[in-house]
Amino acid sequence: MDRLAAQDALKKYFGYDEFRPMQAEIIDQIYARQDCLVLMPTGGGKSICYQIPAVTMPGTAVVVSPLISLMKDQVEALRAVGIDAAYFNSSLSGPAQKEVEDAFFKGELDLLYVSPEKLVAQNFMPLLQRADISLFAIDEAHCISAWGHDFRPEYTRMKFLRTAFKDVPIIALTATADRITRKDILEQLQLRDPEVHIASFDRPNLSLEVRPGQRRRQQIIQFLNRHPGQPGIIYCLSRKGTETLAEKLRAEGIDARHYHAGMNAEERSKVQEDFINDNTLVVCATVAFGMGIDKSNVRWVIHYNLPKNIESYYQEIGRAGRDGAAADTVLFYSYNDVTLMEDILKQNESDQLDIKLAKLDRMRQFAEAVGCRRRILLSYFGEEATEDCGNCDICRNPPKTIDGTVIAQKALSAIYRLREKVGMSLLIDVLRGSGKKEIFERGYQNIKTYGAGREIPFLEWQHYLLQLLNYGYIEIAHDQHSVVKLMPSSQRVLFEGEKVPLVRFATLKERRKAEKEKAKTAKVERQGVRDELFEKLRQLRKQLSQERGVPPYIIFNDKTLEEMAATRPMTDEEMKQVSGVGERKLHLYGNYFIDAIIEYVGPAASRGNVSTYQITHDMYQRGLSVGEIAEKRQLNESTVFSHIAILYEKGYDINLHELVTPSEVDRVLKALRYLQEPYKLKDIYEYLDEQVPYHRIRLALAYGKRQEA
Ligand code: ADP
Ligand code: ZN
Repeated sequence: MDRLAAQDALKKYFGYDEFRPMQAEIIDQIYARQDCLVLMPTGGGKSICYQIPAVTMPGTAVVVSPLISLMKDQVEALRAVGIDAAYFNSSLSGPAQKEVEDAFFKGELDLLYVSPEKLVAQNFMPLLQRADISLFAIDEAHCISAWGHDFRPEYTRMKFLRTAFKDVPIIALTATADRITRKDILEQLQLRDPEVHIASFDRPNLSLEVRPGQRRRQQIIQFLNRHPGQPGIIYCLSRKGTETLAEKLRAEGIDARHYHAGMNAEERSKVQEDFINDNTLVVCATVAFGMGIDKSNVRWVIHYNLPKNIESYYQEIGRAGRDGAAADTVLFYSYNDVTLMEDILKQNESDQLDIKLAKLDRMRQFAEAVGCRRRILLSYFGEEATEDCGNCDICRNPPKTIDGTVIAQKALSAIYRLREKVGMSLLIDVLRGSGKKEIFERGYQNIKTYGAGREIPFLEWQHYLLQLLNYGYIEIAHDQHSVVKLMPSSQRVLFEGEKVPLVRFATLKERRKAEKEKAKTAKVERQGVRDELFEKLRQLRKQLSQERGVPPYIIFNDKTLEEMAATRPMTDEEMKQVSGVGERKLHLYGNYFIDAIIEYVGPAASRGNVSTYQITHDMYQRGLSVGEIAEKRQLNESTVFSHIAILYEKGYDINLHELVTPSEVDRVLKALRYLQEPYKLKDIYEYLDEQVPYHRIRLALAYGKRQEA
């Protein structure tokens, strides 16, 4: 097996022209029967790494996958591109299991997906030993580590694979990259001289945005209005929260549903199913949602509340844009979310609470950051990013700094005079000179800085105080009812004239304005891919998906549709060039999409490089009659006949005798002997007593010319 065979298979089945950098290397290694560990982010293209060897190597690839629903999705997607795959798990009936077993032993399968339980079951081993196995792929391999959140005990019982199948390469794959997990995987599976491949965790197609957490619902409604027809998820903290939000959105005419672990299995799978099939576009869910689905066209993810750490945040936004097409993510943030999450952690998580609080703090820092957000994320995952990304809110709308020295002095001095005994919120109330009962009860109205920051609104104060916190001038004593304390560096501001630059607070109104501008430019950028034609193709995909009972993204993913809308392929040849159109999908769906494009682009269209003849030829090849072609293209039948005549003359494969009889050809060609060159059709027509229609005369002439040539 070699790289070329792999390349061919990639094009043939998946319709892709090139491997992503790491994929090719990994595949080479599997061909060389080397073990490897693959760390790639969700959507990075892990599956191709074992699917291509699976279809090109003799034998069946056995893929261990922990989630039954994912297994089903994967098998469905593979069958859709013409690959023989099946799954084997407890959800199958007895006879269905038998059928899969038989196919496995007869070597009819390229891939067999099994659950870990199945793989380690006593009675499965003899079966495995009788079959011809090309490779073992251990998907979601982090499930092996007790450190992780998805620990699956059966995963730790797979050691036997390495010893029992000496010649079969094992490839372990995961999107969770931390060091402990990595070490666990290598040890537990006892991989042999494994090569570890770590891909970049960057997902440049995901836009990153953090918004102030005020009037979240209105902001969401506006967001949804700007993303019509696009499926997405809103993550909420509580079950109740998902229900309330969905209900409120429905009241606004948005067809939103909720999803959480407290619903019964039937209700949950209904919501999931509808989401997968693009019947429901907006799901308000707890983080449980999205884990077991492979839907590649999730176009946006919103976090209604702050996630508990950066890992979760990244995993959750990672459910958007798996197809590589642009997707948007929004995180709502206010400081109250931090306190709320702290309380939750303290109540529920007794072990390693310190670590958990520290991780939450990193999440807070991310939300409050004033530098490129992607750089922060990547550095968190141990990758160095040397350039700003250009696709986060900070890059697109860089914050403006002001001289905040006086603001800082007022705040620090108030903290000092309040003897470091109040929390953030009361501190702001004192600065603003609020008339709260608590202030008077404690006599704070008498301190010198009471009301010193009256002109600054509450939220704006919060924004500045958070910056002082991030710069290390103050800290929040979590162990003392979250009161605000001074740090030694605050002395420099209060007494030594140290300057404090602060990022100016942009009001919601200003943000909206900036957003509108952005939306305008974004529209310009995206024109040509997300236009009317894209919408038409999307509708067509939906219709086909309903007819065939498969999810829309299984037919073609959004990225492929975008490319079609931009390049407008009108022939099979051109369609094949589109990334994501392999042989089987071309065969199954090519015509529908070509027709839709032709219909949209306009009847007799002939774009620079595609001749009108070519379009006729393609339709003819697909079995359309001359009448049908003429109707579709809104041409005269005689024009279509003349196209066919010309195509035939040029040597195209056309069965002329379906259109003109041998005796007619004979008569026309004989007539020529009695007529003078250049022949006029009319002369021939008349010579033959108007018995042979014009278009047949044309075809007969084409026949004659091709014979001569
Ligand atoms: P993962 O399993 O890592 O989450 P997938 O294997 O599902 O990722 O791949 C994510 C998306 O990228 C899929 O739509 C897949 O078809 C696409 N993809 C994978 N490899 C390539 C490639 N070489 N060229 C173009 N698209 C690819
Ligand atoms: Zn950025």
